[in-house]
Amino acid sequence: MRIVLLGPPGAGKGTQAVRIAVQLDCPHIATGDIFRANVAEETALGLLAREYMDRGDLVPDDVVIAMVLERLAEPDCADGFILDGFPRTVGQAEALDQRLAAASTPLDAVLCFKVGEDELLRRLAARAAEQRRTDDDEATIRRRLEVFASTTRHLLDYYAHRGLLAMVDALGDIDVVTGRVLAALEPEPAAVADDDELALV
Ligand code: AMP
Repeated sequence: MRIVLLGPPGAGKGTQAVRIAVQLDCPHIATGDIFRANVAEETALGLLAREYMDRGDLVPDDVVIAMVLERLAEPDCADGFILDGFPRTVGQAEALDQRLAAASTPLDAVLCFKVGEDELLRRLAARAAEQRRTDDDEATIRRRLEVFASTTRHLLDYYAHRGLLAMVDALGDIDVVTGRVLAALEPEPAAVADDDELALV
């Protein structure tokens, strides 16, 4: 299956993506992880990305798109993948669509993880203490949430109009959320997003 996971920072996309990737036996492509690995190795891509990441801003589309399209061209992605953290802009979504349409391999599902803002802030603060990510300080967290609300959120409408979007309640026990994610990936999604639900994200 070709799957995109959407949701604000702290919604648990990464945690769930790892689990679903094992379950579906397909690669998990997390753009944030790829950037962090490049930052750690001090590659040219990492040095460029770091400037944006440390501010909580998005890395420019051309850089991210080139990186993801290159990764998707690798043989392990031929039968499916889980994209976690990409796309984040309509430009990125369009580039992905074009690539997949050219190969006649469209997306199967886009899942959006729903979590209230108080819980997001609590989770991000806990992660900051545990993982010491340089972009988990308070000001950067606030900026990343703003970027989701002002930019990435438009993708919910983009994918809802294409009939691909399902909302997943991401509050609660990790196993329970995994069960909801897998249920949403069934051929008849249990919870197809309607306008009322979109307003809650
Ligand atoms: P994440 O781990 O997904 O929260 O990503 C961490 C940071 O990496 C983001 O705040 C952005 O600076 C950068 N990043 C990750 N994915 C993207 C993307 N698709 N577009 C632009 N920037 C990204």
